[in-house]
Amino acid sequence: MSIETTPDIYCPNIDEFGNYIDILSGYQYPVLCPCTYRKYNNKQSMSIHNKSAGHIKWLCLMNNNRKNHLLENIQLRQTVEDQKKIIAQLSTKMDTQKNQINTLITTFLAQQQQQPPQQQINDNNNIVDDLIIID
Ligand SMILES: [Zn+2]
Repeated sequence: MSIETTPDIYCPNIDEFGNYIDILSGYQYPVLCPCTYRKYNNKQSMSIHNKSAGHIKWLCLMNNNRKNHLLENIQLRQTVEDQKKIIAQLSTKMDTQKNQINTLITTFLAQQQQQPPQQQINDNNNIVDDLIIID
């Protein structure tokens, strides 16, 4: 039985002129190439893929859009920061609501224990009626 692992994502290197270039060393195969989202199991199959028209065109587009990649990276970082703040706010709100629910349950159970059995049945019917109305 083999264990399936998430493949490394192929990322071209940058030469001394700032151009993206293919360098296949330094990866643990399999590698996933973003141009096809296919998995290449070894350096030889990745090398063959790198010579394909589709990969060469993709690398050319990467080079032609370098400035856009920087802008996109800045925008994505801001989006991640914004989302972290939203998640933190929602988490705090959820914790508050959990505490409110626990307080309501505790109060409800305490009231149920103090009432005679017939009154409990009536109260439970009222709660069911209230829940139906809420829907
Ligand atoms: Zn590719």
